[in-house]
Amino acid sequence: MNPDFLIIGGGVIGLSSALELAREGARVTVLERGVAGAESSWAGGGILSPLLPWDYPDTVSRLCDLGVELYPHWSARLTSSSGIDPEFRVSGMLVLPPVDDIAAGRWCAQHGWRHAREHAQARVPALAENSPALWLPDVAQVRNPRLVQALRVTALDAGVNLLEGVEVTQVARASPAHIDYLDTPRGKLQASAYVIAAGAWSQSVLGNIAPHWPIKPMRGQMLLFKAAPNLLPHIVYRQGIYLIPRRDGHILAGSTVEDAGFDKSTTETVKRMLYNAATNILPALQSVPLVQHWSGLRPGSPDNIPTIGRHPLVENLYANTGHFRYGVTMAPASAQILADLIAGRPQTLDVAPYRWTAM
Ligand SMILES: Cc1cc2nc3c(=O)[nH]c(=O)nc-3n(C[C@H](O)[C@H](O)[C@H](O)COP(=O)(O)OP(=O)(O)OC[C@H]3O[C@@H](n4cnc5c(N)ncnc54)[C@H](O)[C@@H]3O)c2cc1C
Repeated sequence: MNPDFLIIGGGVIGLSSALELAREGARVTVLERGVAGAESSWAGGGILSPLLPWDYPDTVSRLCDLGVELYPHWSARLTSSSGIDPEFRVSGMLVLPPVDDIAAGRWCAQHGWRHAREHAQARVPALAENSPALWLPDVAQVRNPRLVQALRVTALDAGVNLLEGVEVTQVARASPAHIDYLDTPRGKLQASAYVIAAGAWSQSVLGNIAPHWPIKPMRGQMLLFKAAPNLLPHIVYRQGIYLIPRRDGHILAGSTVEDAGFDKSTTETVKRMLYNAATNILPALQSVPLVQHWSGLRPGSPDNIPTIGRHPLVENLYANTGHFRYGVTMAPASAQILADLIAGRPQTLDVAPYRWTAM
C-alpha cells in the first residue's frame, strides 16, 4: 500500500516532520539520499537561538521562540523513547563587545529575555578580555548529531519507514497541479502527498516545479577542539564567531557563511581564521588538541525565513525547508506547524510569513 506521505530528505527537518505526522497516525516514508541526519543537521552548532536576535525580523524570532519553548519536552521525550540523550541544556550565552546595547536592550525587553551587563571574566574566567559583555542566561543548546540520532530511532519506533541511500532523481507531475510519483533507484514511488525537506538541495530536487524558489546552499565551516570539561562553561560570541562548549569538554568554533554553491570542501584560510579567532577569545585553546574541521551546507533563504506550507499550485506538495542558520532551533516548531496545517488545525502563531509564495 502506498504511504500517505513521502518526505524527501532525512535531516532534522524531514525526520521531525515525519515523526509528527506518524504520531498522528499517518503512514510516512522518508527518502534520504545518504545517511539520515548526516548533512547540515550534523554539521551545525546546536545553539537554540538566533545568534544576535535583534538583527533578525520578528518572523525568525517567533519561530525560534516556539522551537525553544517546545525543546525541553521534545528532547526529554526523544531521550526516553530512543535512549539517546541529545544533551539539551540551558548553558547561557555571553556576547563580547562590540554589542549594540540599545538595540539588544530594547529587543530583550520587548521579548521578555533576561539580560545583564557583566565583566566577561566574571562569567568566564578563562577569557582573554574582561570588558563589559552582554549576558543572556536563557540561551540553550543541543548536541545536534545526537539529536538526529535520537530522532531517527524515535521515528523508526513510531512506524516511520526510513529509506536511506535512496535519492529522488525526479519529481513527476501528472498535471500541473498534482505530483504523480518520485523517481528513485528503487523505481517510481507514490504517496497521497509529498513533503520536500531536502535542505540546501530542495530547489534543485524540484527543478521546474519551483524554478525561482530562492533556497540555496550556504556553506559553514567549523572547528572542533577537545578540552577538559568546564574550561568553558557558557557559549561565547564575538563578532560573528562563537564557541560552544559540550558537556564532555569538546568545544566547537564557528562559523562562516559562504556562498560557494554545492562545494562542501574546507579551506585552509578559514581554518586559520577560525583558529585565530577562537584562540584570541579563549587563549587556553592553544594548548588543547584541534580534532576536526568540517563544513556543512545550510539551506539558505532570504532573511532566514523558511518555507512551511503547500505549493501555491501543486495541491499534494508541501515544503518544510529553508531554515538557513536556525533549522535545529526551529525544527520542533516547524514540524508542528506543518502537521497542524495538513490537519487543518488552528496554528499557535501567525504562519502567513512562512507560506510558499515565491516559486
Ligand atoms: C556550520 C553550521 C552551523 C550551524 N549552526 C546552527 C545552530 O547553532 N543552531 C541552529 O539552529 N542551526 C544551525 N545550523 C543550521 C541547521 O543545521 C540547518 O538549518 C538544519 O540542519 C537544516 O536541516 P534540514 O533537514 O533542512 O537539512 P539537512 O540536514 O541538510 O537535510 C537535508 C537532507 O536531504 C537529503 N537530500 C538532498 N537531496 C536529496 C534527494 N534528491 N533525495 C533524497 N534525499 C535528499 C540530504 O542528503 C540531507 O540529509 C548550522 C548549520 C551549519 C552548516
